[in-house]
Amino acid sequence: PSTPSSSKVVLITGASSGIGEATARRLAASGHRVVLGARRTDRIAAIAEDIRAGGGSAGHHELDVTSLESVRSFVRAAHDRHGRVDVLVNNAGVMPLSTLDALKVDEWNLMIDVNIRGVLHCIAAVLPIMRDQGAGHVVNIASVSGLRVDPTAAVYSATKFAVRAISEGLRQESRDLRVTVVSPGLTRSELTDGISDSDVREAVRNHMDIAIPAGAIADAIDYAIGQPLDVDVNELVIRPTAQG
Ligand code: NDP
Repeated sequence: PSTPSSSKVVLITGASSGIGEATARRLAASGHRVVLGARRTDRIAAIAEDIRAGGGSAGHHELDVTSLESVRSFVRAAHDRHGRVDVLVNNAGVMPLSTLDALKVDEWNLMIDVNIRGVLHCIAAVLPIMRDQGAGHVVNIASVSGLRVDPTAAVYSATKFAVRAISEGLRQESRDLRVTVVSPGLTRSELTDGISDSDVREAVRNHMDIAIPAGAIADAIDYAIGQPLDVDVNELVIRPTAQG
């Protein structure tokens, strides 16, 4: 079974800003039908309306990936509307960096809840649909922090290593699904707003002058989705040329 490669139904988590927003806009411009999910519904409503005003197909639905119920309702709304789910882009993520000895245990748990549990909740919600279809594509946003560990990023890196492990497991188990890991380097977005330690936040922001636009990551996602159905782009790493 195959889906028309021209217009896929694409669910995007964390679509209210940064990479998720850029991905929604890029994929809609490529002719895909996008469904935006995030907690800030005013934002996703406005982005979806802007996409429609430009001639694209976009819907939105409130989504908190830490709640399995919320994830199920997001996926159900998209499936009810379009009758299928071709692609899930697991993009929602948080990055409250700090050193381990700062003991910000609540922030460790938040990263685990959003970056790992959130990804698993979304996979759980779409997998039965994709199985019924006999096809589907899961795109998971990891990070260069999923390839290496830096000070202040132990827990964040752990969550992104986990995303890569989950992706590889899903790929091996699911010969009818395509699975892509996209690992961005420094990218302009709102991600550093969540760093509560002001010294760490300033240090990270000092590196941000070399950051690439979120559209660069969106282009990579668009490329992976646009390949023929028997071509599975497994892993893409996109970082600023000047990043160490
Ligand atoms: P942003 O902060 O701009 O976007 C993060 C998105 O995640 C927002 O739309 C936010 O929406 C959403 N989100 C956060 N928590 C939840 C939740 N519980 N439920 C649903 N959505 C949630 O950052 P980026 O665009 O940079 O981040 C996107 C992804 O890219 C993340 O996974 C991040 O780890 C990864 N990444 C980013 C890099 C960078 O340099 N920017 C580098 C490597 C990876 P809302 O608050 O409205 O719910």
